[in-house]
Amino acid sequence: MLGYDWPRLHAALNDLPIALLLAAVLFDLLALATRRQSFRQVSFWTLVVGAVGGVAAVLSGLQAEDRISHGDAVHRVMETHELLGFVTLGVFGVLALWRLVRENRMSSLERTLSVVLSTSGAAVLFATGVYGGKLVFDHAAGIPTSVLQGELRERGRDHSHEAGQEHPAAPDPVPASPSVTEPGGLPDTAAHPHSPGTPTHTH
Ligand SMILES: [Zn+2]
Repeated sequence: MLGYDWPRLHAALNDLPIALLLAAVLFDLLALATRRQSFRQVSFWTLVVGAVGGVAAVLSGLQAEDRISHGDAVHRVMETHELLGFVTLGVFGVLALWRLVRENRMSSLERTLSVVLSTSGAAVLFATGVYGGKLVFDHAAGIPTSVLQGELRERGRDHSHEAGQEHPAAPDPVPASPSVTEPGGLPDTAAHPHSPGTPTHTH
């Protein structure tokens, strides 16, 4: 729909839990520091909607995992990213249910414990994002092989800029690894190389 495949949809939906859950934690801390009820209400609703966004991010991620071409390196990073995503959703899911049930009856100790949990969840959320970024920026995960090959050729070509426009500092040339540039040398989704001892897995 609208040119969105699962990897693109996953990348778009991820903004929901990242923005909303981090806002929830921020307002949690502000509420704890100032005791203002309005901050507590903001953290409550951003947490609930953020947890729903987290479900959407995880479900779209599981769909994307089954559809991207990848090799062993992506596979390993993807497994870590997936585990961190599940932990993030688990922490904020429990927290959202906890507050939906107990919001108006929490003792100050219970309130403090919930803020400790949300702050820990923010750390795991951050790690999930870091590993998601590694997938895209270190391994081009989600970029179809044909697009990747076309882009490698494109980057290798000389090009000109309009008069007066300075060329930015040229980055290191992309090393043309034979396994990437040779047609047919790329691993596909169904069968890709794994290091010895990698458990059997399905995609
Ligand atoms: Zn794999």
